Amino acid sequence: MTTGPSPPPGPDRPHAEALDAADALAAFRTRFADEDPGTIYLCGNSLGRQPMAAARRIEHALKEWAEQLVDGWHGWLDLPARVGDLMAGPILGAAAGQVVVSDSTSVNLYKLAMAARAAVPGRQVVVTDAGDFPTDRYVLEGLGNRRLITADPITGPTVDDVARALDEQVAVVCLSHVGYRSAALADMAAITAAVHDAGALMLWDLSHSAGCYPVALDQCGVDLAVGCTYKYLCAGPGAPALLYVRTQLQERLRQPIWGWFGQRDQFAMGERYDPSPDIRRFLVGTPSVIGLAGVQGGVEVVAEAGLAAIRTKAVALGELGVQLHRAWLAPQGFALGSPEDGVRRGSHLALRHADAQRIHHALARDGRVITDFRFPDTIRLGLAPLTTRFSDVWDAFDRLRALSY
Ligand SMILES: *Cc1c(COP(=O)(O)O)cnc(C)c1O
Repeated sequence: MTTGPSPPPGPDRPHAEALDAADALAAFRTRFADEDPGTIYLCGNSLGRQPMAAARRIEHALKEWAEQLVDGWHGWLDLPARVGDLMAGPILGAAAGQVVVSDSTSVNLYKLAMAARAAVPGRQVVVTDAGDFPTDRYVLEGLGNRRLITADPITGPTVDDVARALDEQVAVVCLSHVGYRSAALADMAAITAAVHDAGALMLWDLSHSAGCYPVALDQCGVDLAVGCTYKYLCAGPGAPALLYVRTQLQERLRQPIWGWFGQRDQFAMGERYDPSPDIRRFLVGTPSVIGLAGVQGGVEVVAEAGLAAIRTKAVALGELGVQLHRAWLAPQGFALGSPEDGVRRGSHLALRHADAQRIHHALARDGRVITDFRFPDTIRLGLAPLTTRFSDVWDAFDRLRALSY
């Protein structure tokens, strides 16, 4: 008997190459900077690669700054709402006038959670998921009267989990559309409807779905949403975040940070705060012009590819990963930390292993595959559809398999 490993079952590399050859989005890879083609980057769920379109928009903003100086503000003042409208339709399924891009996701979450709670008379409780992203849990903890639900760590919060937490004290429910750890995709329409039936408002965090999943905010009757632009929207590190408020709610809601960019007639410099009647009332201070240029470029490339095609490829990339996990990694002590069914999953895969931290480091150092590690036992593989090939997934799993013997 030979002592070497037996030939691997599961899809072979030519299968992955055939999927690449048939990939309608394959050419989009060349629209992004790639300074190190020998490295496989599977962290687009954390920081998206740099689109040339974003670099061009940022260079243009730098030029405007140099040339126009303070006069540039004529064109820049309205950028948060203009870039918001640019992403509203193609990325979020929202009509114009309901999205601005400003501040960070954490700050936008604070503004909207406070505003929403104050708008529901006689109710104080904010419900969220104990497994949600840390900043979301902390911001809501700081509000007080937080109620936590405990969901299945792999399949995420269900409509029943949420319904059990609802009563006449609940003002707002805040959940991630796609879980940051497991990639579990929540049922936006059903959960939003259940929350409305209980007389509360629904706030979704789209950080892990904006740009990789065809979000349908208007169709799902969503009240409020926030989310990152530097993940699947590829806007650049620390780029400003999205904020959505349904038109009919805008005048009813008053956010807690009364800044001059939210003021009705900003340059009248009025004595008292009098918020703008529209989505601009959710702005606070001077926008990051360079950051917004990055968002504009990122949104352009994602919108050009189209969310339907992006979602189709995301499911197919994930399916290849699930098959390779089953064939190679499950026998080596790995467990899938994501829903196995692609329709229940966002765009990343979580793999759990008792020795995950060591494997994650070795994979980067020896395998040249960049993933991230989430304490205590999870490796996340971000399969950003515009920049990940099927052969990248195959190679990454092949190297994982070699490193985890
Ligand atoms: C990435 C992420 C954030 C990040 O918030 P910042 O304010 O940009 O640091 C917030 N919430 C969720 C769910 C995330 O995935």
